[in-house]
Amino acid sequence: MNNIFPTKYIKITNKYSSSHKGVDFGWSSAYGGNNVNILAINDGVIYKTEIQKKGGYCLYIKHDNGMVSLYAHLKKNSYRYKVGTRVSRGSVVATMGGTGVVTGNHVHLSLYKSTVLKDSNKVDPLPYLYANSSNIINPNTKANYKINYEDNSFNPSNPTSGELKVGDKVKIIGKYASSSTSTTAVNKKLIGSTRDILKIYSGRNYPYQVGNSTGVSGYFKASSLQKL
Ligand SMILES: [Zn+2]
Repeated sequence: MNNIFPTKYIKITNKYSSSHKGVDFGWSSAYGGNNVNILAINDGVIYKTEIQKKGGYCLYIKHDNGMVSLYAHLKKNSYRYKVGTRVSRGSVVATMGGTGVVTGNHVHLSLYKSTVLKDSNKVDPLPYLYANSSNIINPNTKANYKINYEDNSFNPSNPTSGELKVGDKVKIIGKYASSSTSTTAVNKKLIGSTRDILKIYSGRNYPYQVGNSTGVSGYFKASSLQKL
């Protein structure tokens, strides 16, 4: 089974490098704020908890494939399970926090290729993680990182769908349809112009009704709109 991301809202704030052997994930006030649930990236057993000077409250999960995931900077005393407890992929194991040395709340995820918890066993977690339809991906993260997708129900061409809300100003970058239930969008005369999101018809082909004070301009997919 694929690993999932440790947060439902995916916003990468710091990538893996030789001097930062993990990936940092931030938060959004629109998606739960800075104390969101931290999820087990896969089935496994709570392997260890510890308080590190830099990492703050840390939790380790040993997975069935022998790899170990580490979640750092957790909220103090937010561990949900005792060491030795079996957890499932997606189990809430802790709360995001800002313990240890940080500039703000986030979760630092490291991935060890074995149960030997030494720095040289850490690998870049990102290629091992898969987004699915339960995730919302920050547009900058979507644009700047290669994100794996677990299933086809998640449409990678529609990455900002969770980001747009009524009242947002958008730049139009694609064609529009005449109705939210249209099957094709043919009209491109608004490309380059700026409008507002008037209404959202979730689940329809062209869910974003866009316009301005003088009325409705058209119906769009998220991929044809750029939030300003
Ligand atoms: Zn980090």
